[in-house]
Amino acid sequence: MASAAPTATPQRVVMVTGGTGLVGSAIKAYVESLGPNPNERWIFLDAVDGDLRQMSVTRGLFERHHPTHVIHLAARVGGLFDNMRDKVGFWRDNIMINDTVLQCAHDFHVQKCVSCLSTCVFPDKTTYPIDETMLHNGPPHFSNEGYAYSKRMVEMLNRLYHEQFGDNFTAVIPTNIFGPNDNYYIEGGHVIPGLIHKCYLAKKNHTDFVIWGDGSPLRQFIYSMDMAKLFHWVLYNYSDPSPVILSVDETDEVSIGDVAREVARAMHFEGNIVFDTTKANGQFRKTASNAKLRRLLPDFHFTPLRDAIQASVDWFVANYDRARK
Ligand code: GDP
Repeated sequence: MASAAPTATPQRVVMVTGGTGLVGSAIKAYVESLGPNPNERWIFLDAVDGDLRQMSVTRGLFERHHPTHVIHLAARVGGLFDNMRDKVGFWRDNIMINDTVLQCAHDFHVQKCVSCLSTCVFPDKTTYPIDETMLHNGPPHFSNEGYAYSKRMVEMLNRLYHEQFGDNFTAVIPTNIFGPNDNYYIEGGHVIPGLIHKCYLAKKNHTDFVIWGDGSPLRQFIYSMDMAKLFHWVLYNYSDPSPVILSVDETDEVSIGDVAREVARAMHFEGNIVFDTTKANGQFRKTASNAKLRRLLPDFHFTPLRDAIQASVDWFVANYDRARK
């Protein structure tokens, strides 16, 4: 539901599409932690506010809220296994959503629009670490082609709107995000929330904790609360259509097996951890460089993975009944 704290005439109205998901709720918590600002109003849109694939619906939301700034998070997203099942659906839904939101941001003279991509849209066959300049240098991994190509088009559109109309549109490219309010769906969800849910059930039912694949793939994870702070910084301090990777350092890359052991530790799970090698591993690695971010924000402190996993496990256990799963 759109939440709009009434203020007189705020100078800035920030509308967040997909505002109640993992990143949107983290941004909301971060903005609230900064305290009230009479010059700013934040609107966090939810899926029930309208289907952004339809231009008339998106236009109606812009007419209603008149945003000066847009954080565009709404997307069809899913883990490896969901992506493999419906590539056409991932492509179409995201292309339609991005087309309506960016065109309305243009039509309504939005001062800044920041969209959210993902490092999983980078080329599969590449050299590492990957950086922002390499986005289109080869096909993405076959497992998520629909999603990846649709998201790559946002980077292109940001440049084209800038070149043709001078619009101030850009994007961030985070690595795997996790945290409170994630989608803890097991079948089609992402790995950390999936593992947290599976470990919770394994502990409760005294069964094995089953990890899909052999646990060797490497990933960089970013905690949603860190992502929220960085997103806020990009919104007000970064003005260039070229995207910025939001990632922990390359030395903080971890294997899925180690992440599973951290989840088990945080959950106080003492049963067996087993690897189901009949399930896909997906991409082996997609190591991203955060050199650009470090140049812009050298002192940013990322929450240690152990602390962030503990906070997410604690949130899931405390909110089991209401968690999306
Ligand atoms: P990706 O980073 O885009 O590939 O997406 P995911 O967040 O789905 O991570 C997938 C990696 O975690 C693959 O190596 C999977 O084999 C592994 N994995 C292990 N257990 C799970 C699980 O329960 N759910 C998911 N989604 N992936 C798992």
